[in-house]
Amino acid sequence: MRSKHANRWDQRDHPYSGRVAVLSTKHDKLPLVAPPLERMVGLSVTTIAVDTDVLGTFTEDIPRLGSPLDTAIAKARLGMNASGGVIGVASEGSIGPDPSFPFVTADRELVVLVDDEADIIVWESCIGQDIVASTTTVHPGDNLQRFLTQVDFPTHRLIVRPNETGVLPIRKGIDNIKHLTAAIVECASVSPDGCACIATDLRAHMCPSRQRIIAAAAERLAKRLAQRCPSCGAPGWGCVDVLLGVPCAWCGTEIARPRAEIDGCPACEHRTIRPIVTPNFRVDPGQCPRCNP
Ligand SMILES: [Zn+2]
Ligand SMILES: [Zn+2]
Repeated sequence: MRSKHANRWDQRDHPYSGRVAVLSTKHDKLPLVAPPLERMVGLSVTTIAVDTDVLGTFTEDIPRLGSPLDTAIAKARLGMNASGGVIGVASEGSIGPDPSFPFVTADRELVVLVDDEADIIVWESCIGQDIVASTTTVHPGDNLQRFLTQVDFPTHRLIVRPNETGVLPIRKGIDNIKHLTAAIVECASVSPDGCACIATDLRAHMCPSRQRIIAAAAERLAKRLAQRCPSCGAPGWGCVDVLLGVPCAWCGTEIARPRAEIDGCPACEHRTIRPIVTPNFRVDPGQCPRCNP
């Protein structure tokens, strides 16, 4: 089936060459996101300051609703609505246990492009484990040197709040010892247990280790946009799903391991299967639930 847009995609020039997208960001992500999009598909990115915090914040003073992809799309639309642009870009990060290694903290950054004129949404993500994200509880006067070294302060900024949750104030973006000490005294004095909680400020402009992962996700999005659908020519061709099932070398039971990736188009129904293991590849019986229960 060909999309209703099938004839609208220019097959010679990239459809985004010379076009402009608006990046919704409260925290300046333009230098992270714009360069690969400009370089790889000729898309210029301008920024619009919208209060993306209404969609949720890292400090949890405003809880997030919906998936990170939903949030990123909603952010892109905030900027498109505010600017009147038809192409919007936004990024969204989630920091928490790594899906493969639960004891490792990972940062998953997603960058999305929403094109309302062509009616397509294209996104990519990147997971990084070198994110600096840590929390500690202190009394005023405690020696902080070890923690401050661990969190790469002041390159990475800090947040201080009363240790008992639900109590204000929250002091953000702290980048020097004087402000840090004052915030600890202030927050500890209003916390029923007399302690302050210090955490890494995970907002992108305060957290260089996040910035590197956002830039990597933007690079992947640009690469994907550079790939055109072999059927209709739309930008954004790439992996949309994974096929599982590789036979065990001894008994042939299908093990839930990836055997192929499905590439797809954001604009039409075209899909192709791309094997990622050779046809005679077999899984070691040690990983088979039947041979090695
Ligand atoms: Zn087996
Ligand atoms: Zn297509």
